[in-house]
Amino acid sequence: MPNPSRPRNNGTQQDPAVRRTNFEEVAQSFTKEEAMLEADRCLHCPTHPCQNACPVGVHIPDFIAQLKAGDAGAAASEIMKTSLLPAICGRVCPQEKHCEGHCVLKAKFGSVNIGGLERYAADTARAEGALKPPVPAAATGKKVICIGSGPSSLACAAELRRAGHEVTVLEALHAYGGVLRYGIPSFRLPREVINKEIETVQSMGVTFKTDVLVGATVTVEELLKKYDAVYIGSGAGLPTMLGIPGENGVGVYSANEFLTRVNLMQAYKFPQTDTPIKVGENVIVLGGGNSAMDAARCAMRLQPQTVTIAYRRSREEMPARVAEVEHAQEEGVQFEYLVTPKEILQDEKGRVTGVRFTRNKLGAPDEKGRRRPVEIPGSDFVQPADTVITAIGQRPNPTIAKTTPQLKVTERGVIALDENGHTSMPGVYAGGDIIRGGATVLLAMKDGLDAAGKINEFLKGK
Ligand code: FAD
Ligand code: SF4
Repeated sequence: MPNPSRPRNNGTQQDPAVRRTNFEEVAQSFTKEEAMLEADRCLHCPTHPCQNACPVGVHIPDFIAQLKAGDAGAAASEIMKTSLLPAICGRVCPQEKHCEGHCVLKAKFGSVNIGGLERYAADTARAEGALKPPVPAAATGKKVICIGSGPSSLACAAELRRAGHEVTVLEALHAYGGVLRYGIPSFRLPREVINKEIETVQSMGVTFKTDVLVGATVTVEELLKKYDAVYIGSGAGLPTMLGIPGENGVGVYSANEFLTRVNLMQAYKFPQTDTPIKVGENVIVLGGGNSAMDAARCAMRLQPQTVTIAYRRSREEMPARVAEVEHAQEEGVQFEYLVTPKEILQDEKGRVTGVRFTRNKLGAPDEKGRRRPVEIPGSDFVQPADTVITAIGQRPNPTIAKTTPQLKVTERGVIALDENGHTSMPGVYAGGDIIRGGATVLLAMKDGLDAAGKINEFLKGK
């Protein structure tokens, strides 16, 4: 009989005092015994509310049952029926909003640690050589291009390959993975895990090419002449600007640039690497999402005296994963809630000296149900800083849209889809952050899978 009343095992983490000085993974994997005990809490609900709340419908009770039986390989195979990146999703998905948020045990005993179990299943199966990628169907003779190598394109490419098509992924950067690699730090998602998951997709026969910027190296129209269909999963890699005085000061970074330097270029290893990074004594990060948490926690590891996250609303409205907020706090990141930055102050040489803020109170909810910040007149104050990192949102890079005039984009610059999920160009499909303007790994993967289904239908009629 399952034992749901055993307290949820949140897993162990590196000691905060130690981990704030290194880039090694914070959360540690379950041992086999821990995984079996946590799996034993699951009630295997016939209506599986956890599975219904997962954007890609991972067979949660079934994979947990395989773990309980001690078979990590079978558990991983069960997950991979709908999600080809289990070691990544187990680590970075906002489970509290999806599966774990809907677990029937949540209120009384604490949800089953589904993320921890997914990660354990994937890591263990891979270590045991039991992680088997799906076998592609017989060759169809059809060729598809996926633009970008983030989670959305990876999911689409793998699904299309599974159907027997010849698939090529084109990536603008020199490394694959999109935000997984240049945005999310190694202490949350080790590079080895990304490499291994991409190797799984490669082992299915998907071809990958780096340093191809579609819209410059080659256009979408040119690709359509050589390939039967094109999937655009180019993400939202451009930072949103604050539009306040001082934003061009020396010592102001967008989270995008800061994280790319640290994660992709490994600037924290300078001078062993080519890219330097310097944060000074006091760092202010503006924003409350995952980018803000990641930037703050990376900055902390560069050993300044203080790192402060300044957010316009209160803790309840912060969009970041709960675990990341808690980890940031444990590592010594300070939080200043209900403040709006009005100006980034500089000295005579243009170097950042601080930020002038106005305090807010919470007003009526906005269209997403989050209470709006309302400024309190006369409440301005200055907080000193040498480095300011802006993390207030992302938007799509316009390169593809500008060079593909037939492709309809919205005012926000995201690719527009019709009610059937089609772009304005026959044979061209899109998904992930390029249609959502910034979302989550799983939603990007779901879009990739949905588009693969549509491309399959399209290719059948070709
Ligand atoms: P991306 O991951 O952005 O990948 C797009 C790829 O396309 C990039 O590699 C880019 O170089 C390439 N590309 C762009 N233009 C071209 C072109 N013209 N030609 C060729 N290639 C091109 N989500 C979570 O679920 N959990 C988290 O913990 C989390 N943390 C995050 C932390 C940060 C710092 C950020 C920025 C986002 C985070 N997210 C998180 C959101 C999540 O990472 C994204 O929603 C997801 O990666 C989007 O996937 P994608 O495939 O659409 O785009
Ligand atoms: Fe198990 Fe919770 Fe899902 Fe029920 S809702 S099947 S207890 S993980």
